[in-house]
Amino acid sequence: MNPEEVLENCIKAFKITNKYFPYVSFERALFLGWYCNLKEPCKFCYMSVLKERIKEPKKAKRSLASILAEAILMKRIGWKLEFISGGYGYSEEEINRIAEAVAYVQRCKQYLNVGVVDVENINLDVIEGVVGAVETLREREKLCPGKSLEKIKENLIKAKDLGLKTGITIILGLNEREEDIEKLLNLIEELELDRITFYSLNPQKGTIFENKPSVTTIEYMNWVSSVRLAFPKIKIITGVWTDKISMISPLILAGSNVITKFPLFSIYGTKYAHWVEKEVRKVKELYGTFTDLDILKGLKKLEKTPYVDEDIKVSDKTVELVESIKSEISKKINDYINKVEKRAKNGE
Ligand code: SF4
Repeated sequence: MNPEEVLENCIKAFKITNKYFPYVSFERALFLGWYCNLKEPCKFCYMSVLKERIKEPKKAKRSLASILAEAILMKRIGWKLEFISGGYGYSEEEINRIAEAVAYVQRCKQYLNVGVVDVENINLDVIEGVVGAVETLREREKLCPGKSLEKIKENLIKAKDLGLKTGITIILGLNEREEDIEKLLNLIEELELDRITFYSLNPQKGTIFENKPSVTTIEYMNWVSSVRLAFPKIKIITGVWTDKISMISPLILAGSNVITKFPLFSIYGTKYAHWVEKEVRKVKELYGTFTDLDILKGLKKLEKTPYVDEDIKVSDKTVELVESIKSEISKKINDYINKVEKRAKNGE
């Protein structure tokens, strides 16, 4: 890797991004639970470690009230749901019910990242797109033995044929090499992807990556700027954890237009959240907030949001279901807000 070349590419990539994406926003995956039923889990995933300990998978799934409370709060603060996500093992019926309910409370269509599911059995009126968890293009059989790339590709092609948008996720820090960038560019072209999410590996205790270094900032910039230069209009979402906040402005300069992967309610309103906002604002306009408690509490409206209200059609059954758990949802919303206020006050 030639660092000078990477920096020159970033300058070009930033200019291109500014042309098609005037602002940066936050997104976050909405998790359905902490269980994945893949027989051979991915070698880097914390679910592979948790799996042994989870004796009753049903209890590892979140309640619908908790999922919807999070969706409502995210709309308030202007964080789009990156996708509805969970490990493998959710039935199409469950996914459909949850996607309808989330779309109903958010008044907007959703992305799914729930393994290879038959999208034809989902209410496509509430789905904007499908994301395939590709994760890596090197040693894929070893690192993701249970997730066939061919099946993911077939699923994405099918989704595209049905008129949906498509995307993939890639984790950096899994021993990838610079020459793998070309493989990624080819895959984006082959599948005509609308978006890509990059994550930086957060090495998990108990996995083979424990104590291994993750991707460096310059390497991350190289991947992002290469994609931006080759695909000017693609949405590029970059994930960083709280130990990598200083990567944010370099990644925006490299071509990212969405930032993701924070423990939202644990750091909202804290010094880390202020730092995240500052990292974005120093280089670009920010839509959404990570610090305003009045907006989170619903006392004030967000001025600039990436959300656009849509006409969402869901079944009567879903409407009845959501209405029947309204008080439970309100209680969960209050629990989340109280947790945030406590942490922000204590300066944690
Ligand atoms: S499919 Fe997803 S949740 Fe399941 S082991 Fe792999 S990365 Fe983890």
